[in-house]
Amino acid sequence: MAERTDPYKILGVGKNASEDEIKKAYRKLARQYHPDRNPGDTKAEDRFKEISQAYDVLSDPEKRKAFDRGASPLGGFNMPGGFDPGSFAGGFGDILSNLFGGASGGAAAGGGRAGNVRGRPREAKGRDLETEVSLSFDQAVKGAQVPLAVPTSRPCETCHGSGARPGTSPKVCPVCQGRGVESESQGIFSISQPCSNCHGAGTIIEDPCPTCGGSGAQRTVHRLRVNIPAGVRDGSRIRLAGKGEPGMNGAPPGDLYVITRVSESPVFKRSGDNLEVEVPLTIPEAIRGAVIEVPTLNGSKRLRVPRGTRHGTVQRLRSEGPQRPNGKGRGDIHYRFVIEVPESLSPEQTEAVDKLSEVMEGDPRARLFQRAAGAGA
Ligand SMILES: [Zn+2]
Ligand SMILES: [Zn+2]
Repeated sequence: MAERTDPYKILGVGKNASEDEIKKAYRKLARQYHPDRNPGDTKAEDRFKEISQAYDVLSDPEKRKAFDRGASPLGGFNMPGGFDPGSFAGGFGDILSNLFGGASGGAAAGGGRAGNVRGRPREAKGRDLETEVSLSFDQAVKGAQVPLAVPTSRPCETCHGSGARPGTSPKVCPVCQGRGVESESQGIFSISQPCSNCHGAGTIIEDPCPTCGGSGAQRTVHRLRVNIPAGVRDGSRIRLAGKGEPGMNGAPPGDLYVITRVSESPVFKRSGDNLEVEVPLTIPEAIRGAVIEVPTLNGSKRLRVPRGTRHGTVQRLRSEGPQRPNGKGRGDIHYRFVIEVPESLSPEQTEAVDKLSEVMEGDPRARLFQRAAGAGA
């Protein structure tokens, strides 16, 4: 089998790779070749589709097993663009698999298979898709409209989804008579499993469509613009109803889940609904108090530092933080004062500190020992 058609080689994992290793390898490559990262680069896009297809096979234990057994028609069909993971999986519902391995895809496919009945095309809600979007800190705080390129499947244009060469049609599977399952009676029990001949599709394609290689589906990239609401965090999950893969036979489409990846700000640290900012003070500012300028999300504000401010003191500006989820107003910004202690001093500063130590008398630690002595007595 050519290297291009071996999903293990495409993902760069060993034959014994665990599900986790496969997922990791896939995510890494998918990020690297994602159309968003390589705008206008058709080679990267092809590679991206290839990676998605490879993951399709290896992330599904049944498809993986079938591939490992060599029983799949991967090598049998001479397909443009490499193997087609769907061709041994059966109907459209299986082919439209969730590229990112998330959400409810697996369950929907399982249900669809069991319900397969001869002569009645399966109806299946389209699969949910999941994708990640990278946002700057600013975009996350203020909201943004971002372009997305989501890999998905659509019915093959040549065969309109049947998988059969135009002019021919899929044949009813002779092993299961189109039921998609094989049943075996053992006493009062009847054990059913997906048909080994048609892999649950109920039909077999003798003369595959040259465009899709019999899968009935073509990989495509769905481009859309998404409004990211203000105030999202790193790891927020945004559901876009009906933006997943199309359903088959008039069934509704799946949903698209967008996971946000938010870059860190060098200034603002997220803490729940609020933001935290570390504000350095000089020793004289901490001792004498000061009016200082602090950054806000929209610019800056003046803040009064009281005389004798201690290291670690927090002041907060209410409702200057990011939008809370569900429109419940805005969070706060917490300014935490840290007193900057110079590591080296000029001769002039040394003199000043010497003078300071002369006039600041007393032992601030004396009470520590009084307390200890009191407790011991
Ligand atoms: Zn069958
Ligand atoms: Zn086709």
